Amino acid sequence: MADESQGRPTRREFLAAGALTAVSAQAAAAQGPVRPPSPLEIPTQKARTEVQDGPPPSPLAADRRLGFAIVGLGELALGQVLPAFGQCKFARPTALVSGDRAKAEKVAREHGISPDHIYDYRTFDRIADDPTVDVVYIILPNSMHLEYTVRAAKAGKHMLCEKPMAVLSAECEEMISACEKANRRLMIAYRCQYEPFNRELIRLARSEEFGPLRLIEASNGQAQGSPDQWRQKKALAGGGSLPDVGIYCLNAARYVTGEEPVQVGAQIVTDTSDPRFKEVEDRVSFQLRFPSGVQANCQTFYSAHESRRCRGLAERGWIDLDPAFAYHGLKLKTSHARGGAELSTEIKLSEKNQFALEMDHMAERVARNEPPRTPGRRASRISA
Ligand code: NAD
Repeated sequence: MADESQGRPTRREFLAAGALTAVSAQAAAAQGPVRPPSPLEIPTQKARTEVQDGPPPSPLAADRRLGFAIVGLGELALGQVLPAFGQCKFARPTALVSGDRAKAEKVAREHGISPDHIYDYRTFDRIADDPTVDVVYIILPNSMHLEYTVRAAKAGKHMLCEKPMAVLSAECEEMISACEKANRRLMIAYRCQYEPFNRELIRLARSEEFGPLRLIEASNGQAQGSPDQWRQKKALAGGGSLPDVGIYCLNAARYVTGEEPVQVGAQIVTDTSDPRFKEVEDRVSFQLRFPSGVQANCQTFYSAHESRRCRGLAERGWIDLDPAFAYHGLKLKTSHARGGAELSTEIKLSEKNQFALEMDHMAERVARNEPPRTPGRRASRISA
């Protein structure tokens, strides 16, 4: 039987360049970076003038991928993250952490995770002795991100933490320093910075294809349901629409420009007689000014119908992503004057699973002992 692993790194090799082993960063660097297996080359029937499909995926065999422990089995974990492992090439789920044993056992069965790798919030620290777990993915209410990042760092694991990173900047600092002290990677799950439509928006804006960027308009919001959910409680959420969905607009303005704002203004409107807004804010308009002069006008809300868009207005044209921050169905359009007419174009890109992309990125960067694109330290800044 042909050896399928030929030319591909074994799990041991894949991990050998990473912080998962006792090998120092210098020693790992001396071995050379571990790359994903090179894709097969297959002949194409299409002419070069046609859009090419690209090479087939080149995944690591399932038992060679980095193992992820999923902490918190709520809507995001069950609806998006766990199903996304099916599209991962370098990451796989190996452990679950939940306060509900029966639910965790059912989920474990569905995703091929052994019941021996189910933990609850009290036994979480035993994950230190679980060799199948390389990365802990924290998908808990915002105010719990600090505690579980610190505990996971103490357990010697790398962290992928959901947005927002924490509810106070002092907590973010504590998370960063816990991970630095433990020599573990900390990545914040800013999924949009891994998906093709937002990356093309960044490329078009920064390449000045339509001249210098002048303005960004971004909005992200939705109508909230029950006032009893943790998102409407300040102690668990840290705030309302702004840290939950408004953060996408703030991040988009930063990753589209590649700059940090030098001036910020905001107006908040909240009807506190609405039971959903006893503790957290509803509507926020905020304005940012960047060193290059670009202005961003952003809006976020919890009391109007879902809208998630981002538009960059440049001197000679605009680039529009609408929806921009949804899980599916992103649409990218540009418009500029040509030959006496306004030429509007829809740019078609193939949709990719954003959660699979971010988890694979984390797995690759950990294995190569390199910082992720969205580390805790520069949580929402993007490198070109
Ligand atoms: P959720 O309420 O559906 O799930 C939260 C989980 O935490 C549940 O399993 C719950 O049982 C558990 N939990 C443990 N202790 C809890 C406590 N004291 N109070 C409440 N729940 C507790 O929430 P979610 O929508 O899955 O969000 C989880 C995290 O993921 C949040 O930080 C959120 O901002 C983030 N999120 C990110 C995205 C994204 O697109 N990246 C989307 C949705 C949510």
